Amino acid sequence: MRAFKAHLRGLSPYPYAKVEAPIKLDQNESPFDLPEALKEEALRRMARLPWNRYPEIHAEGLRRRLAALLDWEEEGVVLAPGSNLLILALSLAAEEVLDLSPSFPHYAHAAKAAGTPYRAVPLGEGFALDLEALLAAFTGGVLFFPNPHAPTGALFPEEALKALAERAREVGGLLVVDEAYREFSGTDFSPLGRDNPHVAFLRTFSKAFSLGGIRAGYLLASPEVAQVVREVLPPFVLPAHTGAILEVVLENPGYAQEVAAYVRQERERVYGRLRQHPLWHPYPSHTNFLLVRTPDAAQAHAHLLKGGILVRRQDRYPGLKGCIRVTVGLREEMEAFLRAAFEVAYA
Ligand code: PMP
Repeated sequence: MRAFKAHLRGLSPYPYAKVEAPIKLDQNESPFDLPEALKEEALRRMARLPWNRYPEIHAEGLRRRLAALLDWEEEGVVLAPGSNLLILALSLAAEEVLDLSPSFPHYAHAAKAAGTPYRAVPLGEGFALDLEALLAAFTGGVLFFPNPHAPTGALFPEEALKALAERAREVGGLLVVDEAYREFSGTDFSPLGRDNPHVAFLRTFSKAFSLGGIRAGYLLASPEVAQVVREVLPPFVLPAHTGAILEVVLENPGYAQEVAAYVRQERERVYGRLRQHPLWHPYPSHTNFLLVRTPDAAQAHAHLLKGGILVRRQDRYPGLKGCIRVTVGLREEMEAFLRAAFEVAYA
């Protein structure tokens, strides 16, 4: 086949294989579906839309609403079906992509798919950020920096972000702070981008807002950066139906706060219990998941699956030997997980 660019040869798809299990703790989803009343209201609004017409080209109505809500410049907001698509758009536009290793795998994947030069700076012992190495490596292009960090769950200090933001300005690059898990850490780094067009923020409705299946996320950036992303994305990219759902959830943010409050409490409880495990080591987390080092990830994963519990193996990533990642689910799901975790036997 000679239809496709040579750089795509050997690119493996996003590493996810669907496995069925009654207790699903593998994708960092919200354990709660959208409240029924909000679903019904969203469906009513969908029914009133003209389905034959294209939606607004840049979801202007929603963009205005988000901008007002977040006190951000309207022209700097870009909505898309999932922040993954915004990562791809930024990677297509970037001169170079830089990230951490380990980090959310879609950054590397998107850069490689886009044919954009890609480099990663390894985290140190105990997933410590090597700020000096990262500052030295950041010589331009786009740096994807999730904070809280995935897949470790760590929260890097604001001072590090400040230094990276200044470095971005100095070298003319773009620091993209991916705040996918911000509701679980209670952080908001967006003030760092208010007077610095070299910093942008990614947010998602897939986690605390419980809309993983709907696919929606947004970018907060300077109008210049947002313009580039809009040029790369296809027009009318946000479906009208998604817009109707987002309108409803933005009018009713209370449930997302409840989801986040539950997850934080349950995460700390499970973390505390796992700290008593003789062989497993949980890492402190500021997200809706826990990274856990076990003597053997394959064995841990298989043992849990036998008990009907699906977690994610992370041992293919550099520095994550033996690690599994467990999403914070419902209380009874976490109890089942803990029971199975303490039963695991090693030969
Ligand atoms: N960024 C990070 C750090 C994530 O972990 C995820 C999802 N797992 C995403 C972005 C993607 O979010 P979305 O569902 O909006 O595409």
